[in-house]
Amino acid sequence: MAAVLAWLVVLPALGATDSTLFTMTLMFTSVAVAINWNLTGGFTGYVDFGHAVWFGLGAYATTILMSLQANSLGIGWPPIPAIVAGAVVAGVLAGLIGRATMRLRGPYFSIAMLGTFVAMREIVRTWGGLTGGGVGLTLPPYLNRQLFYYLELVLVVGLIALTWRLRRTRFGAALVAIREDELGAGTRGISTTRLKVAVFSFAGASTGLFGGLWAYQNTFVDPDIAFTEVRTIDAVMGTLLGGLGTVAGPVVGSVALYWLREVLWANLLDYHLVAQGVLLIVIVLLAPRGIVGAFDRRGTSLLRLWRRQPAAVPDAADGGADAHGAEHTSDAANDDVETRSTEHTSDAADGHAGADTSDRAPERTAAPVVLQGRGIVKRFGGLTAVDRVDIEVSGGEMVGLIGPNGSGKTTLFDCLSRVQSLDAGTIRLDGADISRLPPHRVARLGVSRTFQIIRVYRDLTVRENLELSIQWGRVGLRGLFSRTDGETRRRAERLMEFLLLAPLADEPAGTLSGGQRRLLEIGMALMSEPRLVLLDEATAGVNPSLVEDIKDRLRAVNSEQGVAFLLVEHNVQFVADLCDRVVVLDAGGKLAEGTPSQIMDDPAVIEAYFGAPGRERSDPRGEGNGAEQ
Ligand code: ADP
Ligand code: MG
Repeated sequence: MAAVLAWLVVLPALGATDSTLFTMTLMFTSVAVAINWNLTGGFTGYVDFGHAVWFGLGAYATTILMSLQANSLGIGWPPIPAIVAGAVVAGVLAGLIGRATMRLRGPYFSIAMLGTFVAMREIVRTWGGLTGGGVGLTLPPYLNRQLFYYLELVLVVGLIALTWRLRRTRFGAALVAIREDELGAGTRGISTTRLKVAVFSFAGASTGLFGGLWAYQNTFVDPDIAFTEVRTIDAVMGTLLGGLGTVAGPVVGSVALYWLREVLWANLLDYHLVAQGVLLIVIVLLAPRGIVGAFDRRGTSLLRLWRRQPAAVPDAADGGADAHGAEHTSDAANDDVETRSTEHTSDAADGHAGADTSDRAPERTAAPVVLQGRGIVKRFGGLTAVDRVDIEVSGGEMVGLIGPNGSGKTTLFDCLSRVQSLDAGTIRLDGADISRLPPHRVARLGVSRTFQIIRVYRDLTVRENLELSIQWGRVGLRGLFSRTDGETRRRAERLMEFLLLAPLADEPAGTLSGGQRRLLEIGMALMSEPRLVLLDEATAGVNPSLVEDIKDRLRAVNSEQGVAFLLVEHNVQFVADLCDRVVVLDAGGKLAEGTPSQIMDDPAVIEAYFGAPGRERSDPRGEGNGAEQ
């Protein structure tokens, strides 16, 4: 690598001609564009088919600023400020457009960006007064190729170093979490909207910068050459060839592609485009992780990203009002699908540390109420999944939530963790209204959750999963751009020991058994030092021997750290063993509430479970069927 760099540095001195240097800067450009593309496409999982739009915008903004003449501003800008301004224009527009399009996921986002690209090119073509229309704009010829060669070399090397570093920070890890499970990431306190839009805007600015540099050296822009889809295709192909989601992938892949094209161009003439197309198909099908990806576990594949299409998350960027409504974007569909949410927790003020505990005395309700839901209503079309439910959990309390399949337990969790908006009712945490907060804010206030259909970051290791599930409320800007700290690492180690996951620490979470993933998800919920954890069917699909372990672990966390739990369980015995108080839902409404023994003897509850003929019911004492969806 050092040798390559050294060669690049001395190249001009070796008597390279201006045209060779220009060719090299074009290669640097395609490497840079691929790196930028990979930041959103590879790391964050947002596959952008219109990325070249930022290049064109940077190119045009730079050219327009430089060619300002006898107008109100008088003179054209000098090159460097104009190029920087072009990058800023591209970055700002990327931020604004990303804010809108990144509500979409998977192919929908890809197509929306392709549309943005085409629309922008047409705007440039049509807005002749400013852009010269279809004819384009010309700049005065420029002189020093060497200067720009070195400038671009420095920028590309800097960009590689930056992405390498970024991938190792919490920010980089959070981007991958967004790719792996955006909804889960939101419920674990990650401000997903803000982070993904930030990286998208950065990538836009960076590509815009190279667009401006290119325009200046090319001395001419028109809509077809500044806004060419080939630039996007090259970035996508280069990245796929090299390794999607890896740091070196786009670099290796773009250079390889550049070289291949020269060879193919020379030997195949008219057929080089066909050959290129075949190559793309071969990569996607036969080597989905690319050259670097074959060796780097962190790589991913395009088909996998699309097949998954994780559900979008409720709007996370800013607290308030617009949390509502944004959230039904569950395009979901596949693997982790399930519109359910979770949230993670956070420290929050008082820790109830070691408060009450293992004996399950009813008077424990004397502790202050932590979470209080009042009159919660959630409808799906004509179906009222949760119907005016009141529920509260006090500090350090363990409360069970049971009910037949479809009675609204998971939906209630989704409302409480704000993955779903409410149709009526309020939710208070320590008395403060959180009914409209986005999930990551709720998580940061100390409420975490697990999902009935397990959500872990499958491509990340067990350790990484845990280390990402921190109390994000405490991560400032500085923490965002640094690596995992020692304290977090130790906490993750302890939790892995505690949850019997230590031997699996470096295995990708996707390879664990269902029971192990349940434990991991519980660990992730505990990582953020929550005060309240909502557990949705923590024992479903878990081997019975592990169920006892889970029970012990929950009891220990409750008694030693005073963490409160709200448990949804099919296995009523499990609930009876752990909880002081049980709430029973049926058909969305609250059917009963009391101690486990009161509940088990309640005729209405028995009726609901064994109930009226024709209604499908599950056994309250029993195995339950965890697999209700
Ligand atoms: P439980 O967890 O108690 O089994 P759920 O909360 O999953 O019950 O479901 C309650 C009802 O709401 C069910 O009838 C279910 O089909 C329906 N439901 C849940 N989520 C959705 C959704 N995203 N869209 C439409 N209907 C839903
Ligand atoms: Mg459920």
